Amino acid sequence: MTWPRSVRARLALWHGFALLAVVSVYAIAVMVQVRDDLYEGLDGQLEGDAALVFQWLRGNPRPVESGVGAFEPPALNGDSRADVPWVDAWSPDGRRLFEAGRRPGLPSRPDLPPTWLHAPLSLDLSDGSRARTLTRTATIGGRPVFVRVGRSEDFARQELREFAAVLGVSLPFAFAIAVGAGYLLARRALAPVASMTVRARRITAEHLEERLPVEHADDEFGQLASVVNDALGRLERSFHTLRRFTADASHELRTPLTAIRSVGEVGLRERRTEAEYREMVGSILEEAERLTTMTDSLLLLSRADSGKTDLRPATIVLGDLVTEVAADLEVLAEEKGQRLGVDVDPKVVVSADRPTLRQAVINLLDNAIKYSPDDAPIRLVVRRRGERGVLEVIDQGPGIEPEHLLHIFERFYRVDKARARGAGGAGLGLAIARWAVEANGGSLEVESAPGHGSVFRITLTLPLKETS
Ligand code: ADP
Repeated sequence: MTWPRSVRARLALWHGFALLAVVSVYAIAVMVQVRDDLYEGLDGQLEGDAALVFQWLRGNPRPVESGVGAFEPPALNGDSRADVPWVDAWSPDGRRLFEAGRRPGLPSRPDLPPTWLHAPLSLDLSDGSRARTLTRTATIGGRPVFVRVGRSEDFARQELREFAAVLGVSLPFAFAIAVGAGYLLARRALAPVASMTVRARRITAEHLEERLPVEHADDEFGQLASVVNDALGRLERSFHTLRRFTADASHELRTPLTAIRSVGEVGLRERRTEAEYREMVGSILEEAERLTTMTDSLLLLSRADSGKTDLRPATIVLGDLVTEVAADLEVLAEEKGQRLGVDVDPKVVVSADRPTLRQAVINLLDNAIKYSPDDAPIRLVVRRRGERGVLEVIDQGPGIEPEHLLHIFERFYRVDKARARGAGGAGLGLAIARWAVEANGGSLEVESAPGHGSVFRITLTLPLKETS
């Protein structure tokens, strides 16, 4: 038999077979009990029959001395349902004393093991029927006499056959009903799966907003649907982010490429002086530099996403790191007449991967320089706050509107696209800075208000042991 593929059908069959097994065991137990009861009844009747014969023989001991057939045996109680009992008796030397209603095929005298005297016996008769016999012995008139009484088992066997027939007919019905009921139950129980399947078919990369129906949130299917829906939600967000990222990245990469191409085309259109060629090559290199920076950033972010960055935490004196970055970017600040103020607590020591943390500080200071107006002061502060080391980059630049504050850490997000591109930003600096800080177990926050400058704050947990 090939097992059906549908869960409904399989459940129904399992249900049917389980019920069949239970009912069969129950039926067999009942059959055995009924059989025992029937035979117990029959044996009780035989005991009564034997007692009646001995009683009669005690009142009429003559048959024991005379011969076979000379006397009428007692009329034993017949039962309207059962066969009339029969009896025969003989002396220990094998002489038959009398018999009544003896069945053909019954052994003329018991040639049986010693137990025959005690336990009732079932015998196969030559006509195919079976008889139940009981042999008892008693001393009548000083002589031992064997008396065998018997009754047909036909009635008991007929009862058992009828019972078995009833079971034989009803069991397939019970099985069929169990399978049918199981199928209906399974269909009802699995109905949510059908509707989930229909809905799930509609979910594609283009339709990730679709969700599975949740009929009963508390049952197993409801919970499954909720979990799948949550996963779909996350998937949709990731897809959305990925799509935007790809679109933004292509757009950002196209801009310098277009610039390189147009400078090249213009340069080839007519003869130019060496100075003009130099200027063109210079601007091509500038765009190429921008491309390199951007691809480096993208590479870093994609490594960060796949968790392939190799971070080596080391003990860092935060003040030293900040002073070093300030010295590196001093020249940029000077170009804009900005003054970099460094105010550090030299005792603040953190455990972090130096290159990534340095990259974060560079990005923040670079932004402060880029977005602050000429001559504006910029401060770098390192302090200890409780069990944390805090590094702040404080500027008095334009500040950031609250609606942008939520997004500035997203990839390619720029508050003022035109201004930022002019200043060379692709909108990846803060995304990288946040990743770098978080990868080192810290957090990066911003406080800013339009017209009041910005404070970018890196908070790092201090290692248990620190220099004092
Ligand atoms: P970009 O490469 O454009 O600088 P970032 O991710 O570093 O990208 O910054 C995202 C946006 O946040 C910038 O476009 C800018 O508008 C805003 N921003 C970042 N730092 C500052 C700052 N110190 N002052 C004002 N705006 C800032």
